[in-house]
Amino acid sequence: MQVWKFGGTSVGKPERMHSIRQLITSTDSRKIVVLSALSGTTNALLSIGESAKANQDAEAVEKIKALRDHYDTFIQELYSTEAGLAQGKEIVEKEFSFIRSLVNIKPFTSKQDKELVAEGELLSTQMFEAYLAEQGENSILLPALEFMRIDAEGEPELAVIEERLTTILGQHPERQLIITQGFICRNPRGEVDNLKRGGSDYTASLIGGAIRAEEIQIWTDIDGMHNNDPRIVKRTFPIRQLTFEEAAELAYFGAKILHPSTITPAKMRGVPVRLKNTMQPDAPGTLIATSSTDREIKAIAAKDNITAIYVHSTRMLNAYGFLRRVFEIFEKYKTPVDMVTTSEVSVSVTIDNSEHLDAITAELREIADLEEHDRDQTIVCIVGNFSADKEGVAIKVLDALKNIPLRMISYGASEHNLSILIHSSLKEQALNALNERLFYYEDAMKDIFTAP
Ligand code: ASP
Ligand code: MG
Repeated sequence: MQVWKFGGTSVGKPERMHSIRQLITSTDSRKIVVLSALSGTTNALLSIGESAKANQDAEAVEKIKALRDHYDTFIQELYSTEAGLAQGKEIVEKEFSFIRSLVNIKPFTSKQDKELVAEGELLSTQMFEAYLAEQGENSILLPALEFMRIDAEGEPELAVIEERLTTILGQHPERQLIITQGFICRNPRGEVDNLKRGGSDYTASLIGGAIRAEEIQIWTDIDGMHNNDPRIVKRTFPIRQLTFEEAAELAYFGAKILHPSTITPAKMRGVPVRLKNTMQPDAPGTLIATSSTDREIKAIAAKDNITAIYVHSTRMLNAYGFLRRVFEIFEKYKTPVDMVTTSEVSVSVTIDNSEHLDAITAELREIADLEEHDRDQTIVCIVGNFSADKEGVAIKVLDALKNIPLRMISYGASEHNLSILIHSSLKEQALNALNERLFYYEDAMKDIFTAP
């Protein structure tokens, strides 16, 4: 069994839904198909929720009407039979009258807000299932709210999901296509909740892990994960293969294509994840799996809005316990530290959430001296397979960046990541220089030396 997930733009137009049907019926494997809300819908629902919360009821009603118009038009093109359209109208009517009733509840709390935002996926999946039924496909809609569970901390409960889903799937052995909602789930109070923005990828990975799927496919509108940011770098290309560790580093350090938590359940259960492009279904995309045979340097990613904090203390000299005291301060303010470099008497760290920066630096000053911190920094992260026996990665990176001031370098923490901190104004220059040096230089040299 495979799990295929389609995002908002892949379901955002009636003709895109038509192509999804073609895609999911083009191979024989049994599939669970996870859908996001139509593009724009989640934002629209959140905005309706804001109006409702602010008691701007007329405004909320206006926004609901505008969204409903969109759906009324959408279903006209989605279905081709009278019966199909009637079904579509019924779904839209039912969900929109529920939306209307939600915003009338006062006070409008986060419980209502979560029910409201869940409507996006509830609409897209019911409309799509009705379309498949109209076209005579052997499909069924299984409500994610019956098996997707998070705990009190908001963390998914894989064991619960596994148990429930296995039972539910066992009740429908004859169904070839199983449709369900991404993003939405229930919390321990039994209320409707969600896996946070972009969470449909996470749903797909949780389901894939839970049922130990043969493969998870994430369908988007780009051709896989790129080796560098195509918006600012010339000559990028899709990466063919990545390991789970490499993909997680890239997702965390800025590759927008995947929700950073996505990889975890797939990795735990060793289920490969393939990133595919709905616009070019025959292109190979990116395969993320336990091992990869690809080149050693895979990709470059960057994360902006980083603040660097520089801590000095002569007390650190030959002492123990100092670093613990430094990190306890970050822990106290629930502020994750991304990069760390140390010398005998100093430690530099970066954070990307500077909400508590003043409080943190005030407490750090009680135990050490601080240099002025630097805002507007960017972490450039080179991802690949850099086992200690493979020489030469660092020298290539430093060579590429020889004209750029480097604030911090971190290498050796994992075999997959070399991180460098630079001022954000130099990011474009750094990414392009690295791209040329790491991905094109050797080939260019080979061409020169093997030329006749
Ligand atoms: N519809 C949700 C969002 O827009 C979940 C998703 O698309 O992944 O965040
Ligand atoms: Mg997404």
